[in-house]
Amino acid sequence: MTKLWIEVIALGFIFWLEGLFPLFQDRTQRFRHAGRNLSMGAINGLLVGFLFSGITLQVIRMGQAKQWGILYVLGDSGWERGFVAILLFDLWMYLWHRANHRIPFLWRFHRTHHSDTEMDCTSALRFHFGEIAFSSVLRLLVIPLIGISYSELLIYEIILQPVIIFHHSNVSLPEKIDRIGRAVIVTPNMHRVHHSQIQTETDSNYSSIFSWWDRFAGTFKRRENTRAIVYGLAYFRELQWQSLAGMLRTPFARFTKQQNQGEV
Ligand SMILES: [Zn+2]
Ligand SMILES: [Zn+2]
Repeated sequence: MTKLWIEVIALGFIFWLEGLFPLFQDRTQRFRHAGRNLSMGAINGLLVGFLFSGITLQVIRMGQAKQWGILYVLGDSGWERGFVAILLFDLWMYLWHRANHRIPFLWRFHRTHHSDTEMDCTSALRFHFGEIAFSSVLRLLVIPLIGISYSELLIYEIILQPVIIFHHSNVSLPEKIDRIGRAVIVTPNMHRVHHSQIQTETDSNYSSIFSWWDRFAGTFKRRENTRAIVYGLAYFRELQWQSLAGMLRTPFARFTKQQNQGEV
């Protein structure tokens, strides 16, 4: 419940800031756009709640009882362990996100996140439930491998939610402040490049909380003028792909990755 409240407060606050200081000022249907993305978020929330919460908790408990996972070299509690747990889980998120771009089957589902032509804070919730289901299943393996506890995972998600809502936002942030921020976390200017229609930019800046993974792996990309970025995917620009039904149908459309990104 704490997680949901933090998500609602962060969304409300950033959505309000987007109205006051927007980067792209031509947005006329903000509430309609938000309604669609939030509906996707609600579907995903229900899916995870009904299908995965119980089993995830059981896997965490079993792993704890048997002391499975890398983190047990640091003991079974303590802030150092907690910090490493958050780092390792964020590294997993980086690898998972990169796999979504690399593996054509996963990309079909991840296209729903990238097809948003008017990215804002609500895009942080715009994922196809197929992608959420695959990641929830893989988490059942990753959790015991890392050895992350329930409270560590909860803290990770409590940090993750406001960060992803913030870096998807349409808030116009001075570059100087963005630069300071992205020394540690993923900021709006960093993630905007990831939502560019140009494929070499889409396939960059995969990090979720910490920006370091992209720097270490050489996948970090910067754009001087983020206002010139065109969001979305070339073959999913029409309104039919922006509706709730269109977003749900996106994985089943027959376009190759190159076609998606207009490079044919
Ligand atoms: Zn992506
Ligand atoms: Zn994104």
